[in-house]
Amino acid sequence: MNIYKIIAGVILLTCPFLAFGQIKNDDVYKLPEMGQSSIREHISIPGFDGYQVLKCDFHIHTVFSDGKVWPDVRVNEAWREGLDAIAITDHIEYRPYKGILSGDLNASFKIAKEHGDRLNFIVIQGTEITREKPIGHLNALFINDANKLELDDPVDVLKEAKKQGAFIMWNHPGWPDNKSTLYPVHEQLIAERLINGIEVFNYLEYYPLTFDYANKYNLSFMGNSDIHEPIAELYGNKKLARPVTLVFAKEYSEAGIKEALFAGRTAVLFNSTLAGKDELLRKLFLASIKIKVIKGGDDIEVSNISDISYSLMIGDKEYRLPANKTVRTQFPKEGIMTVLNCHTGKDTKLEISLPLKY
Ligand SMILES: [Zn+2]
Ligand SMILES: [Zn+2]
Repeated sequence: MNIYKIIAGVILLTCPFLAFGQIKNDDVYKLPEMGQSSIREHISIPGFDGYQVLKCDFHIHTVFSDGKVWPDVRVNEAWREGLDAIAITDHIEYRPYKGILSGDLNASFKIAKEHGDRLNFIVIQGTEITREKPIGHLNALFINDANKLELDDPVDVLKEAKKQGAFIMWNHPGWPDNKSTLYPVHEQLIAERLINGIEVFNYLEYYPLTFDYANKYNLSFMGNSDIHEPIAELYGNKKLARPVTLVFAKEYSEAGIKEALFAGRTAVLFNSTLAGKDELLRKLFLASIKIKVIKGGDDIEVSNISDISYSLMIGDKEYRLPANKTVRTQFPKEGIMTVLNCHTGKDTKLEISLPLKY
């Protein structure tokens, strides 16, 4: 057999698209091209300062608490959607199916992690500590044994999680009473570094007050799905449909994500709306925009090379920069550009002085 036949054979064996013809006969006619499970979206969000932008969902449930799907399906959903990492965060205290499924609180993570490893997809071990307000719900991420967190006193739980190296976030502050009150217990936990992040986007909602909490207490902005049902059942199959935490990481690894979370290098994205620290949103926006002066005229071409659409206000005029499009326009020479879909606080949006440097 010559080398070309060997190469052709390898390609046919490894590439399902070239192998369609191999599996049709008069008895069975297969349509593998209709299957979508091995096709992944590509999400383009440019990094800056040497950081890459990882799209992560740090709040996910499975049947091992009150979710509706098996843990490895969560990995497939996120991989197909173009995400870079997820955390499995089943409730400790609320497990309606625990009579059917084993009592090992690490089981859902292990199943998801084993599958993630096969896809080279990062799965982080987490859990949701589930108490009444005022303390509310908190996710502990990067733990190594959830069974040790089944304790009565929630502060003891957080201390044990911290002993395991956890990053802890305060979940959905505005749920279930539609009030995002930060109570003294949260201030205490923040002071003790037993809360490191705050979930400003969750499920189908967000909490404007928490933008200010994150800035005031130097907490990482977190945005996650808190998904219980199959992801497409809630968000459909659109690209970037669920809320995600954007992590500005030095490297694609669990350690890289953990380092960035503790350093506060995150922002959140949902429905083309961003929230985060002013400095980070500024860098993210500017990394996404390329400007070209058109010779011989006053127009400029503004290219948005990211998958996030931006809306701008300069003076009383609104400009749109659709994702992955170039717009020919004119910007005023001076003034302030407000990026309308970038929240830096409850009542503040990203503002950039003109002229832009290009
Ligand atoms: Zn919760
Ligand atoms: Zn939850």
